[in-house]
Amino acid sequence: MPSSEPAKRAVKGPRDLVGLRVVAVHAHPDDESISTGGALAHLARRGADVLVVTCTLGEEGEVIGETYQGLVNDAADQLGGFRIHELSRALEILGVRGAFLGGAGRYRDSGMAGSPASRNPRAFVNSGQQAVNDLVDIFEREAPHLVLTYDENGGYGHPDHIRAHEITHLAAQQVEIPRILWAARLREELEANFAEDIPEGWTRPAPGELDAVDTTDTWVEMDDVVYAAKAEAMKAHATQIWLADASVTLTNPHAAIARGPVTTYALSNLIAQPIIRREHYLLGAGMPLEHGADITSGLDF
Ligand SMILES: [Zn+2]
Repeated sequence: MPSSEPAKRAVKGPRDLVGLRVVAVHAHPDDESISTGGALAHLARRGADVLVVTCTLGEEGEVIGETYQGLVNDAADQLGGFRIHELSRALEILGVRGAFLGGAGRYRDSGMAGSPASRNPRAFVNSGQQAVNDLVDIFEREAPHLVLTYDENGGYGHPDHIRAHEITHLAAQQVEIPRILWAARLREELEANFAEDIPEGWTRPAPGELDAVDTTDTWVEMDDVVYAAKAEAMKAHATQIWLADASVTLTNPHAAIARGPVTTYALSNLIAQPIIRREHYLLGAGMPLEHGADITSGLDF
């Protein structure tokens, strides 16, 4: 989408980050909300200017619910356009701006590892130097103090996530970025927040099945307002994410209910996962920070 104005929202609390510029680099629509939605909403509410760069339209995704099944890649192949609409809504809820790397539709979702989609010349994994140049253009224009993305394994190994990590660090060789952070989940918190009861038809993750790390450098503690914004933003991606909060959507007219310490959700594989109250981050590059420090600590803006 064109860089739209951040949504006008009532903001309470200190606006101590006015002047701070943040860019998050994500592979597909929905990743911004799943892995960094708490930090993005939190930073925006404190007055930071936040841009989400999405590298593909997520055309190879599966679809939850019957309503839009016909959009998938081997049917109408219209899922990418539909996901622009879901992403726009999510960004509005988070209170941040959005842009597509190289413009909407420039790079295509490469699919899961080994997928035939990865052989498409437009697949993001085949984007070469052009994608790096496109991100350099954005970094030069935005001059971010802080960049959020994934670790070298892309968080969970998806080729487009790995590629998003790669181009971020390659672009950062050309434009100095004061701090790059990688989103992660802390294993002990993940396991402590599994639901006691999960919806019928869903499954519990096998040990080690969900991506998580044993230590992190710092985290964002979500207050109730930010947590609700993250959950709502995830819900906006209704073809991709099913929240077990008893709600229904036009996309997925089936309510699911889980009982647990936090809200539970599933992707199309219907593995129950918690929306943890903390988003954890590892220092990827740039200015170090003390363990548990504010993710913006030490940044000069
Ligand atoms: Zn993704």
